[in-house]
Amino acid sequence: MQETHMILVIDDDSLIRMLVTQALQTCGLKTLEATNGEEGLQLFKTQGADAVLIDVLMPGGMDGYSTCMALRELTQDLQIPILMMTGLEDIESINRAYEAGATDFITKPINFALLGYRVRYMLRASQINKQLIESKQQLHRMAYLDALTALPNRQFFYNHLQQMLEIAKRMKFKLGVLFLDLDGFKQINDTLGHHVGDLVLQETSQRLRKSTRNSDSLVDNDIVEDNIKVARLAGDEFTVLLSIIHNEEDAAVIAERIRSNISQPFMIGGHELFVMASIGISIFPNDADNYEDLLKHADLAMYYAKKHGGNRYCYFSASMIDLPLHRLTVTNHLRKAIERGELELYYQPQFKINQDQFYSVEALLRWKNNELGNIPPTEFIPLAEKTGLIISIGEWVLREACTQVKAWQNQGITLLRVAVNVSAIQFMQGDFVSLVSQILSEADLNPAILELELTESTLIKDDLSILRILQALKQIGVQLSIDDFGTGYSSLSRLKNYPIDRLKIDQSFIRSIDSDSDKGAIASAVIALAESMNMQVIAEGVETEEQLTFLINKHCNEVQGDLLSKPLPSTQLEALFLKNSKMV
Ligand code: C2E
Ligand code: MG
Ligand code: MG
Repeated sequence: MQETHMILVIDDDSLIRMLVTQALQTCGLKTLEATNGEEGLQLFKTQGADAVLIDVLMPGGMDGYSTCMALRELTQDLQIPILMMTGLEDIESINRAYEAGATDFITKPINFALLGYRVRYMLRASQINKQLIESKQQLHRMAYLDALTALPNRQFFYNHLQQMLEIAKRMKFKLGVLFLDLDGFKQINDTLGHHVGDLVLQETSQRLRKSTRNSDSLVDNDIVEDNIKVARLAGDEFTVLLSIIHNEEDAAVIAERIRSNISQPFMIGGHELFVMASIGISIFPNDADNYEDLLKHADLAMYYAKKHGGNRYCYFSASMIDLPLHRLTVTNHLRKAIERGELELYYQPQFKINQDQFYSVEALLRWKNNELGNIPPTEFIPLAEKTGLIISIGEWVLREACTQVKAWQNQGITLLRVAVNVSAIQFMQGDFVSLVSQILSEADLNPAILELELTESTLIKDDLSILRILQALKQIGVQLSIDDFGTGYSSLSRLKNYPIDRLKIDQSFIRSIDSDSDKGAIASAVIALAESMNMQVIAEGVETEEQLTFLINKHCNEVQGDLLSKPLPSTQLEALFLKNSKMV
């Protein structure tokens, strides 16, 4: 059903009022009539209207222009259409009407047949306009406000920081960025649930607002409240921007106030929770002159505050720029590496001694990130292990390697073995054995082709479950080897009980073949040990002819190393295999 609109008609001429009313009513509009400006305003105040028609020339205190202006002031709403009816057609009068806030004007004599349609059209246009403005506001809210806490979000904060930085540069102001992260928030989330976690974040944002309000104003260095902006970046990360500060200490005053407010117990869902905050501070221009570095440095200082026990604030200092921040950044990127397709497997051939052709490879993970470039596995694997990301990454590696080997088989390239590195956490995860067998059957691959490289540290714990996992893996039919052998402290007696197929002599022992002191004593010992335990042995990291000759003389079974081939992307390995097999 169509909504009935109420139109207020203000005109001193009763005939015109009557004709206007008739014209509007035939178009389904209702009217209210007033004989002068004052009365019109009064009616508008008490009864409201969806549109107003005003005669320009009216006797008494208020003419049409001043009535229009008064109406606009009253409503503050530019969307209510006001139509001026005027006998004056000169540009000046029309301009005055618009200046007074009229939406449109209509000249007398009025074409009453069209009037109703005209008003309807104006109403419709204003409604559309209103909706547009509302949806724009809504979009703006969505783009710049955090839904959970109603604080400005990351995007807003970035924009604002950039703008303020420009001003600070021009005006030679200092500017402070506080980066706050709650201590132990993850634990709250994990143990009490996301609902409680959300409430903690909401309460935190309240306390942040309170801490940055000027009610208990700073003693000496008044920072105007307008110059403080709180935002939520993500999760339990918040930022506070102090746009204009006179000296660095101002930031500490705010940081301390925030810290202390947040450290008061939180009463949430019947729980008394103790939430602490770690805060990092960076200052423009001392610590950085662009917004990215300012944030990065504040983040790093926060990290230090956390590392030193949390519940404290910490200023950035240049000495902090070293590994930790890099580690943080790397971890963040690593989380998305799989879905972004940034991971790739390289394959390093393994050669049987005295055979030119290789039939085995070790799969080695490579990660290329647009921002960070190539990150070596020695850097990201430990991080992945620490954060648990290795579980999904390891699964990806296993699946990728098996699929690739199957694809090669289909091309006629038959490998005896593909070795895949397995981290301790992966190995100890509850369903590792079933994951391996599932991936093998998905790839339709003979299990004997897959070799899992475990490290000594994985096997070092005196744990019956390790033996069970190893046995279950052997049951599936895969091969097992111990990587970097000799660097751990594995107990040989236990090792003997483990169903291990192969030992990989660690590179460091191969390197020491060249050195005067050791002359490969350990490498020789490992080869002998493997033989005595009926295990195969492979030397990795073979770089020189001298090392190779030594290993051949010691009857090492297999070798792997840059001397023979570096790890290669799959296509290059294919090419190498095909070239070598033609030579044979
Ligand atoms: P690793 O399993 O002992 O692998 C051998 C490492 O030695 C590889 O380094 C390989 O590129 C390198 N290498 C091979 N031949 C030579 C040589 O002649 N000279 C020298 N100097 N180095 C040689 P990479 O690829 O950087 O991998 C380092 C380590 O990262 C691996 O050591 C392994 O522990 C780990 N890793 C690599 N890929 C994965 C994976 O998919 N999963 C897990 N859990 N760990 C992996
Ligand atoms: Mg390995
Ligand atoms: Mg190794």
